[in-house]
Amino acid sequence: MSGYTLMHEHTTIDLSGVKKDMDCRLDCYDETVKEYHRLHELGVGTIVDVTCDGMGRNPEYVSRVEEETGVHIVQSTGFYKEPFLPERVYGSTVEQLAQWMIGEVTKGIENGPKAGMIGEIGTSKDVMTDEERKVFDAAILAAEETKAPIYTHTTLGTCGLEQALYLRRSSLDLSRVVIGHMDLSGDLDYIRRVLATGVTIGFDTVGKKAYLPDETRVEFLKALEAEGMLGQVVLSMDLTRKSHLAYKGGIGYSYLIETFLPMLKEAGIAEESIQKMLVDNPKRILYGE
Ligand SMILES: [Zn+2]
Repeated sequence: MSGYTLMHEHTTIDLSGVKKDMDCRLDCYDETVKEYHRLHELGVGTIVDVTCDGMGRNPEYVSRVEEETGVHIVQSTGFYKEPFLPERVYGSTVEQLAQWMIGEVTKGIENGPKAGMIGEIGTSKDVMTDEERKVFDAAILAAEETKAPIYTHTTLGTCGLEQALYLRRSSLDLSRVVIGHMDLSGDLDYIRRVLATGVTIGFDTVGKKAYLPDETRVEFLKALEAEGMLGQVVLSMDLTRKSHLAYKGGIGYSYLIETFLPMLKEAGIAEESIQKMLVDNPKRILYGE
């Protein structure tokens, strides 16, 4: 593996059924290929696609984008959060869900490669529902058995600490667990408390300025760099809508490299820190290196 890694993206995703908004069906194949080509030119070698069962996951589509663009795409197993959980979750035990995830990691996803990530598994706003807890329990069993890493979804950063503490009760290597969307908490002290558990966190909604200005992300990262914490941070954008892509006037997948990295450098964040967040930390999380 070489180059930068974006740790939380969706090559294709379909949440339009629940969200009642066709913009949430990201299926513009040619535009995505075009943007992934550009990412490759910009030095992005790997994308972790955290689209899991119930999110319109399409492994065959993702594999075609990978072949066409040369960007290595790690695909994922697991279940998202309510109300996006598929029937399978409600009708199965923790053990059965774990076995299903283990099968996808060790034998392969139907019509796809072996899953290299368990995620994104999520909690609702301010609460982990019973069914979401079931998915977390299954993910822990699957990760313990396969040594696959875990990537979570928090809703606007809420329950990040609860997730970290919940996962810490297992025998998992927390340096390979990522608590997602922590930038959206907008609360640096809360972020510090999550980091203190030993997990890695995602500043993975870069460019979503309506939720949080990028200047705040930069300010937080600058503070965390001074505290020596960037070995526990990864970066991504979490694009999920057609309107996020450049052809619809959105920021596009290359925004993080072309616009956000220069902002980090301008703020005085060291090249070494950028390497950690985009190269070294992803390697450790994905491959245990
Ligand atoms: Zn998410």
